[in-house]
Amino acid sequence: MSITRIIKCSNCGVFNTNKEYCKNCNTLISDAKKRELKASQVKQKQIDEVIYELENPSLAERLKKHPSFLYKILGWILYSAILVVTTIGAGLAWFIAMVAAG
Ligand SMILES: [Zn+2]
Repeated sequence: MSITRIIKCSNCGVFNTNKEYCKNCNTLISDAKKRELKASQVKQKQIDEVIYELENPSLAERLKKHPSFLYKILGWILYSAILVVTTIGAGLAWFIAMVAAG
């Protein structure tokens, strides 16, 4: 089974046969590969955003320093919750990385 795919490089115009990268200038020319890379980039961006939000404890830190006792407790509860969610998030990121790699 052999399918010959000839792709013209959009960068230098050289025709490549069955290649994902241009043999002349090394530009990525495979559409399937481009879509694949794009998808993984989007996925990574979403993971980064979630991790950033989870690791940003400004609200919890502010509450913990609040003069009111009730707010302090609320801050600690929030802080613990963020800690737990961050741990789960890191595990999830690791799992996604493993699935992507495998
Ligand atoms: Zn090229």
